[in-house]
Amino acid sequence: MKVFKFGGASVKNAAGVRNVEQIIRLEGSHDLMVVVSAMGKTTNALERVVEFLASGKEEQALNQWVDVMDFHVDIMKELGLKPGSDIRLQGEIPYDPALPYDENYDQVVSMGEILSTQIVAVYLLKQGMSVEWWNMPKLLRTDTTWREAIVDDATSRATIRAGWDRPNRPQIVVAQGFIGGTADGKRTTLGREGSDYTAALLGNYLDAESVTIWKDVPGILNADPRIEPNTVLIPSLRYQDAVELSYSGAQIIHPKTIRPLENKHIPLLVKPFGEPEAAGSRIADDGIGPINIPVYIWRKNQILITMRAKDFAFVLEESLSEIFDIIHAHRLKVSLIQSSAVTISVCVDNTRFVPGAIEALQQRFNVSYNDHLSLLTIRGTTPEILDQAKQGRTIMLSQTTRRTARLVVKDNE
Ligand code: ASP
Ligand code: MG
Repeated sequence: MKVFKFGGASVKNAAGVRNVEQIIRLEGSHDLMVVVSAMGKTTNALERVVEFLASGKEEQALNQWVDVMDFHVDIMKELGLKPGSDIRLQGEIPYDPALPYDENYDQVVSMGEILSTQIVAVYLLKQGMSVEWWNMPKLLRTDTTWREAIVDDATSRATIRAGWDRPNRPQIVVAQGFIGGTADGKRTTLGREGSDYTAALLGNYLDAESVTIWKDVPGILNADPRIEPNTVLIPSLRYQDAVELSYSGAQIIHPKTIRPLENKHIPLLVKPFGEPEAAGSRIADDGIGPINIPVYIWRKNQILITMRAKDFAFVLEESLSEIFDIIHAHRLKVSLIQSSAVTISVCVDNTRFVPGAIEALQQRFNVSYNDHLSLLTIRGTTPEILDQAKQGRTIMLSQTTRRTARLVVKDNE
């Protein structure tokens, strides 16, 4: 069997859903697990619904919710599906003011994937395919770490294998990426862009021969085509290169995607949605490395936090483990570390957890910070490339080795 994953951009309209059908047809009689994200920008729209409700703006929340429903109804109609009878529509927002924000977030935001997969599954069924829709909140078991739920592999593997190995299972299963559920039936989400991770887990559980991520780019490129004019396709990578790229901030695949695949030696293919016969990029045990062209990776929305010991104690020896305990406890994602005799600086994703972490660090250290930063990682750099990258930019901090440069850059105001 193979796993196919279609992201939001691939199913942003009716034409996208028809294209999914075409790509599946090219596979012929292969058993397929089809993982689908929310359509277009639906996840962002649903996040706004939660924000509005949490700040008491009920009318705006309802308008936003209705917009999301209308967007899906239009796509259904264009595909010849009947809203209400072919596909159930949720009239009420699954929000309970008595519950914490993050728990509500998961109940509301997960509806994007519930809707998209129903549309894809029913559409494929109506085209005469052998299809089954899976409700991942019942199958992919997680804990209650809302918005970043941890998957219970043993339970999920058993349930999913049992569902897949049934004798009369239809040839194609359509399942939601990004969402799972708790033992008591609440929906959870796995972190933004988590559908790739779902695809990798399913590939692992079902011993897939490959996992393919269908994207709106030709494959894995050496730079973001929206930023760099001349990008090059990287046809073959090793797992470790892919981990490094995604960790550095390359928005190609979710960083958690690689491990479940590497563990079972399952190749990951990244292919262009608009050109299904093209080779794209292949990540596997036998990938070619190291990559011999410069690769530019931007990690946006960074904050640089600098700690200085209050009592002039030698900060590294005394306090290193303390700093990292606090960072870990507050779920910060560290992208770079730099130390001097009396200071330590960490560059982290500027998430909602940062203010709490800074407060905790301030109890023990003098803390200063700079936000509105980006981290640029250049792999395969040369002195000339580095000089060019620094042109016209305010560099807050740089770390270079012979082949890799990492620059913390101030965003242009
Ligand atoms: N729909 C979710 C998001 O936009 C998950 C995904 O696309 O992978 O974050
Ligand atoms: Mg998405």
